[in-house]
Amino acid sequence: MGASMRTLEALQEAYAACQRCALGQSRARVVFGHGAVPAPLLLLAERIGGTDEQVGRPFAGPAGELLRRILAAPQVEIPFHDVYITNLVVCRAPADRSPHVAEIRACRERLLQEIAVVSPRLLVVLGRLPLQYFLGVKGGVERQRGWYTWAHAAGSVPAYVTLNPASALYGEPHDIRRKKLLIYEDWQAIAEAYRTLPAEPQEG
Ligand code: SF4
Repeated sequence: MGASMRTLEALQEAYAACQRCALGQSRARVVFGHGAVPAPLLLLAERIGGTDEQVGRPFAGPAGELLRRILAAPQVEIPFHDVYITNLVVCRAPADRSPHVAEIRACRERLLQEIAVVSPRLLVVLGRLPLQYFLGVKGGVERQRGWYTWAHAAGSVPAYVTLNPASALYGEPHDIRRKKLLIYEDWQAIAEAYRTLPAEPQEG
């Protein structure tokens, strides 16, 4: 992972008053990622919601509750403290709309710096917009689920594409159930890879 001398606190400070895109006008506050630093596993979603903005961390609402249940489920069992979660954009959009491409692009440098600080060995890409604008893969998430490689200046990191748990919260009961099963299946594959990650290189 590209070395960054910045700490997460320094990054947060640098972006606390950011106006690089229009979302700087609508947000109540910037909601950076949350979790362990460094973390073996980084989850990348699309945007923050109202509860996230109120609480000040991503996945603070029902989607976060579902995510916690999935991580704790049998044959997944990934400790929540091994996970760091962030978004393509870190400012809430008016009426909770999805971010525009220009906003995603404006926030990309912040995302890359955040990933460099967290230094994950496995990425989980949640949903269509991160699939398209982070991995550069077009298409629906359900069709594109599975393993990819995220290549960056200093190397590459395996990345698994799956549905955002938020997508399994609303809709017809049969569709909710189907999506939850897909998500659970995906997280079993992610957990298998997570458990076989090589040990962290020792410093010094
Ligand atoms: S979403 Fe990102 S680029 Fe846009 S104002 Fe917020 S921190 Fe800045």
